[in-house]
Amino acid sequence: MTAGAERQLLRVNEIFFSLQGESTYSGLPCAFVRLTGCDQRCRWCDTEYAFHAGEEMSIEEILEAVKKYDTRLVEITGGEPLLQREAFLLVRRLSEMGYRVLVETGGSQDISGLDKETVVVLDLKCPGSGMTGRILWRNLDLLKPDDQVKFVVADRADYEWARGVIRERGLADRCGILFSPVFEELPAKILAGWILKDHLPVRLQIQLHKLLWGADARGV
Ligand code: SF4
Repeated sequence: MTAGAERQLLRVNEIFFSLQGESTYSGLPCAFVRLTGCDQRCRWCDTEYAFHAGEEMSIEEILEAVKKYDTRLVEITGGEPLLQREAFLLVRRLSEMGYRVLVETGGSQDISGLDKETVVVLDLKCPGSGMTGRILWRNLDLLKPDDQVKFVVADRADYEWARGVIRERGLADRCGILFSPVFEELPAKILAGWILKDHLPVRLQIQLHKLLWGADARGV
């Protein structure tokens, strides 16, 4: 443990227990730590409430909150969790405690400081998000086989862009690939048809928590 770690603070939007819904761990019970703040403004963002609201907590307080849930799976999300440098220390502490740690990041921040045991779920922002220019492409060189790249697809143009990136960068040989349709914008059935027609080696995922609890649900 790093000296003084217990005094390092993170701004936390919410900590809650739910089913993991946006990765190959989808469907598993998971503790979520949502950190406050984001440097992007995706057009279809569904967590704008995480841009500002939250309270400061020490790493020890966060670890205590996570321990209350009977699970070994923890996701650090946001907002953009990697904007807060203390998030890297939180991830390390959780890994040392034996948790499987997923970090969901919007793809604009350097992931090189993450613990090697971490499962990175890295968004690559399609043009429909308005945030493609923020992608830190060198992150792709750091991906491990257990990591996952996620494309949130709003329309056919997004799909073709994502397909091109996968092929040009050889992503299918490096990590898992997730395709998620923008909720209530692109029907999942249409995206499924495109994937099958192209034999694209990607996993279609539907935001499970929205199907279960509705588009505006939070903290479940
Ligand atoms: S990166 Fe995530 S939290 Fe930030 S604006 Fe985009 S969807 Fe919202």
